Amino acid sequence: MRAYRAALLRFDDEGRPVHDADGLLVVGPDPAAGTGPGGASSASGARVVRAAGPWSALKDRFPGVVVEHLPGRLIAPGFIDLHVHYPQTDVIGSPAEGLLPWLENYTFPHESRFSDAAYAGQVANFFLDELQRHGVTTALTFATSHPASVDALMAQARARGLRLIAGKVLQDRYSPDGVRDETERSLVDTEALIRRWQGQGRLGYAITPRFAPTCSDAQMRGAGELAARYPEVWIQSHVAENRDEVRWVAELYPDARSYLAVYERFGLLRERAVYAHCIHLDDADRALMRATGAAAAVSPTSNLFLGSGFFDYAEADRHGMRYGLASDVGGGTSFSPFHTMLAAYYVGREGHTKAGVSLAPSQLWWQHTAGAARALGLEGVVGNLQPGCEADFVVLDLQATPLLARRSAQAASLEELLFSLIVLGDDRAVQAVHVAGGNGAESGQAGLLLPAAGAAQGI
Ligand SMILES: [Zn+2]
Repeated sequence: MRAYRAALLRFDDEGRPVHDADGLLVVGPDPAAGTGPGGASSASGARVVRAAGPWSALKDRFPGVVVEHLPGRLIAPGFIDLHVHYPQTDVIGSPAEGLLPWLENYTFPHESRFSDAAYAGQVANFFLDELQRHGVTTALTFATSHPASVDALMAQARARGLRLIAGKVLQDRYSPDGVRDETERSLVDTEALIRRWQGQGRLGYAITPRFAPTCSDAQMRGAGELAARYPEVWIQSHVAENRDEVRWVAELYPDARSYLAVYERFGLLRERAVYAHCIHLDDADRALMRATGAAAAVSPTSNLFLGSGFFDYAEADRHGMRYGLASDVGGGTSFSPFHTMLAAYYVGREGHTKAGVSLAPSQLWWQHTAGAARALGLEGVVGNLQPGCEADFVVLDLQATPLLARRSAQAASLEELLFSLIVLGDDRAVQAVHVAGGNGAESGQAGLLLPAAGAAQGI
C-alpha cells in the first residue's frame, strides 16, 4: 500500500463535492480481488482506493505505510473523456465550413491512413501520451473503420494499464474509398474485436456506428443485434450535432419521428450507449434518452469550434438525462479537461437559444469525472476517490503558473478554488498522473508518464 497526504476532492453519491483540505488517500491491492462475485469489479487487477478522508482521522490507521506528503497540491479523480477520436489527433485545428465539409476535407482522408497498423500504432502512442499528460485516465474513443486501428490502440492501452473503451467505426455508405467498410465484413470484424478486447484487463469494447447517415439499415440492424448479444459492451455514436446533419437524416428516414428515434429503431439505445452532442433534441428525445439509460457526451469545445449549437443543460436536467463531458478531438480543440470544463461553462451561460445557466465549478468537475463514470455505467469503478474505486488520480499543482498561484491563494471556498483551476489551468497544473493498472508501478511521477520498470514494488 501507499498513501498520499494532500488536499482531496471526491464526490458523494448525489454528486456533491467532498473536500478534505488536509486529506489522506491510501491506495493498494483490492482486498476483494479473486474472492468470487464480490471481487468482480477488481477482476482487472487494478489497485483501488483503500481509504480517503481527513488526515487527522486516518493517519493512525495505516501504520508502516509510506506517506508521500504533497503540500499545496490537490488530488482529484483522473478525468474521463466521454467522446474522442484518437485517429483525429492530427486533424485538430482544421478549419472548415461546419461538420460535413470538415469530415469530407480533413477527417476521412486522414482516417484512411489507419489501414496501416504501424501508422495507427504511432498515432495511438502519441494519443495515449497526450491523454495522460492532461490527466485523462479513461476515454471512450472512436478508432477508424480498420480493425487494425483498434488492435493498435488496445495493445498500448493494455500495456499502460489504462481503463479505455474503443471500437471500430461502422460506415458502409456515404463514405469515400479508404474508410468505407463492407456490411457483412464489418459486423464479423466487430464481433471478433469484442471477443478479443472486451474485459481484457481494464479494456472495454464499444460498437461504433459512425452516425446514422453513414450506416445502411443492414449495418445498423447488425450493430443492434450485437448490442443485444453482448450487453456488457458499450455503444458509441453521434446524434443531433448540426442542423444540416439533422435535415439529412430526416431525408434518409422520412418515416422516423426524429434522428434519435432512428437509433432506437435498430436497438442502439440502452445503458452503456453514449451519444455525442445531443444538441438538437426535443422533449420526446430527452425522455427517450432517460427511459433507455443512454447518455449524452457533451462536447463543448467541438460545438463552439464547428458552430454546431449549445447543449441545453436545463432541459437535460428537467428530463433526468445522463450526460458527461468530452473533448471530441479532433472536432474539439483541446485534450485538456480544464479547457473542456470552461467551454462547458460558456455553453451553459449561453441564453439566446435556450435557458442560460451558471454551472457550479464542482458540477463541471463532476461531469468530467464521477458523472462521466455514471454515464458509462462505471459508477464506483472510476471517476471518484471513494474507497473501492480504482486508483486513477491526478496530483494538481495550484502554483503551476504565477496567475493560478495568485488567484487560487485568494480562493475563499472550494468552488472558487475549482473555478480558478478551470479558468486558468492546463497541462502545466497536472503534476502527476497515477494509473491504477500500471504494471504494479506508480506511473506519472513528476513528468514520468509511463510506468517505470522496477520503479516501485507491488503496493
Ligand atoms: Zn465525434
